[in-house]
Amino acid sequence: MKILVINCGSSSLKYQVIDMATKNAIGKGLVERIGLAGSVLTHRTKSGAKEVITAEIPDHTVAIKLVLEALVSPHYGTIEDLKEICGVGHRVVHGGEKFSKSVLIDDPVMEALEECVELAPLHNPPNIAGIKACQTMMPGVPQVAVFDTAFHQTMQPKSYIYGLPYEYYQTYGIRKYGFHGTSHKYVSQRAAVLLQRPLSELKLISCHLGNGASICAIRGGKSIETSMGFTPLDGLMMGTRSGALDPAIVTYIMNKENLTVDQMNDFLNKKCGALGVSGISSDFRDIEVAAAQGNARAQLALDIFEHDVRQFIGSYAAVLGGVDGIIFTAGVGENSASMREGICNNLEYIGVDLDIEKNKVRSEEVDVSKPNARCRVLIIPTNEELMIALETNDLIR
Ligand code: AMP
Repeated sequence: MKILVINCGSSSLKYQVIDMATKNAIGKGLVERIGLAGSVLTHRTKSGAKEVITAEIPDHTVAIKLVLEALVSPHYGTIEDLKEICGVGHRVVHGGEKFSKSVLIDDPVMEALEECVELAPLHNPPNIAGIKACQTMMPGVPQVAVFDTAFHQTMQPKSYIYGLPYEYYQTYGIRKYGFHGTSHKYVSQRAAVLLQRPLSELKLISCHLGNGASICAIRGGKSIETSMGFTPLDGLMMGTRSGALDPAIVTYIMNKENLTVDQMNDFLNKKCGALGVSGISSDFRDIEVAAAQGNARAQLALDIFEHDVRQFIGSYAAVLGGVDGIIFTAGVGENSASMREGICNNLEYIGVDLDIEKNKVRSEEVDVSKPNARCRVLIIPTNEELMIALETNDLIR
């Protein structure tokens, strides 16, 4: 049983073929510059060998066609025949309030996806283009949509309604949706396995700390609070995104800098966060190097991030009424021992007792707490593609 996982961006497409018997990716790759000059497909085989294919790739349909050809290539392919693919799982960023779980795609689902475009105008259209391309190129193969927002649909109105006139929620759908749901769900399930306790009993705080970053309070396997909001701009300061601000700052800067709505949106998403504070890079590795060399603004960016995460952990401990485990995942969470150590500083009051030596690991699924710590600190590499494949597998069987 093999599942193809597709993650479409506006000009890119990531894919993996996952063998459900082993849960391993047996081939994966990336199409870049779709619709632009210099389009390229980079395919990796199970052994890690790399094949770079340059071609004109004007749209997602051509991209999918090339991906399918690469998958069955006699030289560097992954499978012998496309018939081996039993289903396709698509990452869809926004499911609004229409989707609280993954769904098998049919015509009414496609219509509902189109209706969600307004909420994610940059992300949902390429997701839809990828689905349509697969429907055309793989007729008869079931397609499944897996949403970034679905996991957070268990939040209560007191968590997701903003302090705005209620009509704005009813008319425009303005509410907290939350994102990274597939990742938070995956790592919380793995945490239960690692802790050898039923997920239904656990109070967890999942920290997805990558270029985009969000935190989620999970009780009994259900999201009850999360840091991203109406859009993925809210919450923690991120690589290039501001995170939460006093809302009055937005209009103040627009006025001072004479910015249009689109320019301000671009500014908040691409020029702020750790990049804006450090003035160096959005990449935490570069910032850590600069800070170690004495760059004060780089150190400030790291300090803000650490402080932000610790603040959310404290607040979510209050919301959950105690914490059994804190999970670190994604680029920074999985790899930066110093950031994890910094965040866990002063969390003794909720039962954290980090083992500094055990914590010196990268991308391993491991409990890095001292034996008697009441609140366990877990490093769990995320695997959104596997989660999408598992949900797809469940729905097509
Ligand atoms: P992601 O969005 O999950 O791919 O994470 C990307 C972020 O993880 C980038 O900011 C990277 O700099 C950061 N990252 C990856 N490896 C490390 C590392 N060893 N130390 C610190 N940050 C890292």
